[in-house]
Amino acid sequence: MGGTRAPDASSEAAVTSDPATVTSSSSTHWRITALDTGTSHLDQSMLTYTVGVGTVVRIPRVIWVLQGPTTVVVDTSVPMRRRPSEFIGEEFSRSRAQEPANALRDAGIDPRDVEHVVLTHLHWDHAGNCDLFPEARVVVQREELRYAIDPGRFFRKSFLSPRSGWGTPPWMLPNIDTVDGLTELAPGLRLVPTPGHTPGSQALVADTEHGSFCIAGDAISLYANIEQDIPPGFHVDVDDAVDSMDRLRGLADHFLPSHDYEVLSSGLITPIGASHAARPRYVPPPIERWDPEPDEPAGGAPR
Ligand SMILES: [Zn+2]
Repeated sequence: MGGTRAPDASSEAAVTSDPATVTSSSSTHWRITALDTGTSHLDQSMLTYTVGVGTVVRIPRVIWVLQGPTTVVVDTSVPMRRRPSEFIGEEFSRSRAQEPANALRDAGIDPRDVEHVVLTHLHWDHAGNCDLFPEARVVVQREELRYAIDPGRFFRKSFLSPRSGWGTPPWMLPNIDTVDGLTELAPGLRLVPTPGHTPGSQALVADTEHGSFCIAGDAISLYANIEQDIPPGFHVDVDDAVDSMDRLRGLADHFLPSHDYEVLSSGLITPIGASHAARPRYVPPPIERWDPEPDEPAGGAPR
């Protein structure tokens, strides 16, 4: 690829992937900060499947910073110094303070301290700017890397991919690591596959003093997805997307959607805390069984 070293799919991430170790919460507490690194307006149905058609909503493009025994970044937003028209065609705007390098500086984060950059998936608005973190390993699910090299024709425009005009996509760096399935990234940090929005999407579940928080990527774009049980509007497989939300419900106490301004309750730089943990849990409706009486004919009693 133009002399650039292709990602080495066999490289070993400095992580473990024993499922027995990745679902329990630990005594390690991470602090999460959300950075608003740009704004778009789009049709709500892009985020909530078949719901909100014709309603334009304003959404953020978020970089998440986790601080604990080390520093971890989740998602790296829209590439800097590119015109919006170069991407999917969605309207996108960014102030100087929202430039990722400036947002990190204003949040007191030195990019050289970041040990892991976790990419939930390789869409244009989640996987730019990886080169801001020279000391980091970039962690992506193996299936996502495979798909992003050659996405399906409909989804091609959404990916930072050689097939969508990026000779060297921002994530295609020598320091990329692949993981395969449930993975413990560090004490108190678990990677969870969430296929549906893309084939190899993943979420990160982090233990905090307020319980475990799921940084969901586009498996959960808005609180409405997880709280009203509406799958994301954009997906390669809607059944997988619903199953992934159910899986996350069993693995985290609280959820942080990727594109919901309600997360950014303190503005451009928002520490995640008690107010985020106070949101109501989704309670699935009870399953009502119908059992015919033993002497009732099959097909139900005549009315
Ligand atoms: Zn996406």
